[in-house]
This record gives sequence, structure tokens and C-alpha cells, in this order.
Amino acid sequence: TELDQLYVHESVENVIPRDAFVDAFDEVSIPAELVGDGREYDASDAVATYAPRPEFLDAGWVHCIRAGYDEFDTDAYDAAGVALTNSSGIHGSTVGELALTFMLSLARLGHRYRDHQNERNWWEPPYDRPFTIENERVCVVGLGTIGEAIATRCDALGMDVVGVRRSDEPVPGVSELFDPDRLHDAIENARFVVLTVPHTPETEGLLSDEEFAAMRDDASVINVARGPVVDEEALVAAIRNDRIAGAGLDVFETEPLPDDSPLWDLDEVIISPHKGSATNRYHLDIADLVVENVRRYQSGDILKNRVA
Ligand code: NAD
Repeated sequence: TELDQLYVHESVENVIPRDAFVDAFDEVSIPAELVGDGREYDASDAVATYAPRPEFLDAGWVHCIRAGYDEFDTDAYDAAGVALTNSSGIHGSTVGELALTFMLSLARLGHRYRDHQNERNWWEPPYDRPFTIENERVCVVGLGTIGEAIATRCDALGMDVVGVRRSDEPVPGVSELFDPDRLHDAIENARFVVLTVPHTPETEGLLSDEEFAAMRDDASVINVARGPVVDEEALVAAIRNDRIAGAGLDVFETEPLPDDSPLWDLDEVIISPHKGSATNRYHLDIADLVVENVRRYQSGDILKNRVA
């Protein structure tokens, strides 16, 4: 199929350096050009973008450089017959290692030591506070690219890994799989509940009051998926009331996290600014995906990661 031009929308700058990203297409058979809003497109154009724009529906194919494409109206893409692809498949190591950072810190207290270091304080934790993640149970909710990467890493560190998945196909390192409607059974014995599902109508508010009540009181929530998957107000209440122990959060209902959020003040909550996928070679990983799809598009093959 005809493809004349690859446009890189400036919103990619949210997560990658835009010029380096455009340069990554030097070897590709079609020219790449940086664009802003309001451009006109036709069916022979491809667009790589972070954010959706109405005019993209006139292009032939749109690539969302994020894995989570919940801000894109997939029905509109289907109706317009425009292919939409995402960047799923490249975030296993990056987001996976951040999830492990949260778990290891909550167990070994890296966050607390740094808090006290800031005060030049030789703080010694209470005897019963530190623990090892080895031999602890982790429940990974959503076993796609990121969930599987976390499961493998947790297994390698000697954890007991269980998971929530819609299919019962076995996953390496996961000792037991639960269907989504058995979420409470899956999380009730876990020291860590890790969220790696997309934000969809089914997963919105997946963890709320009832789930926090079902969890162990020494359990922590790790959210590297999307903010709305957790009921944030319920999470704050659960931690304040010692119904659960803490959380590692990369994503929030409102981003950037508002200055008045109570989450900022909780000792056992670790906050990162939605940078789970950040790495110095992120633009190259995304470009590899786009280049592969340019090749497929031109030879009429099925696009990789097509979501609409
Ligand atoms: P993926 O598509 O490979 O995996 C998602 C998995 O969740 C799939 O296996 C899917 O079947 C499963 N799933 C969907 N609904 C479910 C449900 N109701 N119950 C159980 N499982 C369900 O995507 P991925 O690359 O692993 O990314 C997962 C999500 O993580 C993305 O949708 C995105 O929102 C988020 N993400 C966050 C960051 C970050 O910076 N923190 C980076 C990349 C992705």
C-alpha cells in the first residue's frame, strides 16, 4: 500500500527527544518530518504521536508511541478505516524494573533511608519492619508484556508469583493463575499486588475499598498501569487506617499529581512521575517498532500491535 510520508507529531516530546526520534528514521524508505497541530493529512501519510488529534483520522495509519492508548477513540479509527498501532511489547524491562524498585524498597527500606539521609539522620528501623521479598507472594494483575516481565523477575528473586489473567494459558514463573472474577482470592494472600492491566471500563477502580479490605494488612500496592485502575481516595484511606501497608505508584488519577494530594505525605508511599518506561534508548525502541510497521504497511502485511 502507498505510504509517502511519516509525520512525527511534536507531542512525542512528552517522553522522548523529538529530533533524535526523527533522526532514527534516516534509513527508512520514506521521509520523516516533525509536525505540530492543524496539519492536513491524507491516506498516504503515517503519523507517529503521543497524543491524539482529530486531524489524524485523515491519515492512512497512526502510531501511538505509548503502550496505553486509552486516550485514543478506537471506535472513530475503526469507523474511519484508519489503522491505529501502539507501542506495546517494549516496556517489559523498563516498567518491570521500576516495579521491582518499588517492591525492593518497600521491603529493604531504601525510601525510608533516603528520607532520613535528607535530614542527616542515622535512622534505625524497628526490628520487625524490614523483610525480604524472597519467599513473599506477589500477585501480578494482567499478564501482558509488563506483567510477564515482572513475573519472571520476581520468580528469579525467589518470590511466590501468582497472577490474574483472562486466559488460563500458563505463564513462565507464575505458580497459579486466577480468572479476573476471582480477584479477591488472587490478592488475599499476597504481600504485593502489582497492577499491569490497561485502563478499560472493566479495570477502572479495580482496587477499591473491598479489595483493600480483602488484602493483608502488611500488603502493598504497586501501580505501574494507569491511575484510574486504583480508587485513589480509597487507597489513601486504606493506608492511613493501616488496612494495608503502603504503595509504589508511577501513575495517578490526575497527572502531574496535584500538590494537595495526601499521597505526598505518606511515609510508605513511593511516588514516581509516570516515568516507568523512561530509558535513554526509548526513542530507538519505539522507532524500531515504527520501522517494522512501515515495512509491513508497504508490503500489505498485517501491522504489528494493531489496536484499531
Ligand atoms: P499488554 O497489552 O502487553 O498487556 C496487557 C495485559 O492485560 C494483556 O495480557 C491483557 O489481556 C490483560 N488484561 C486486559 N484486561 C484485563 C482484565 N480485566 N483482567 C486481567 N487482565 C487483563 O500491555 P503492556 O505493555 O504490558 O502494558 C500494560 C499497561 O501498562 C498499558 O495498557 C499501559 O496503560 C500501562 N503502561 C504504563 C507505563 C508506565 O510508564 N508506567 C508504560 C507502559 C505501559
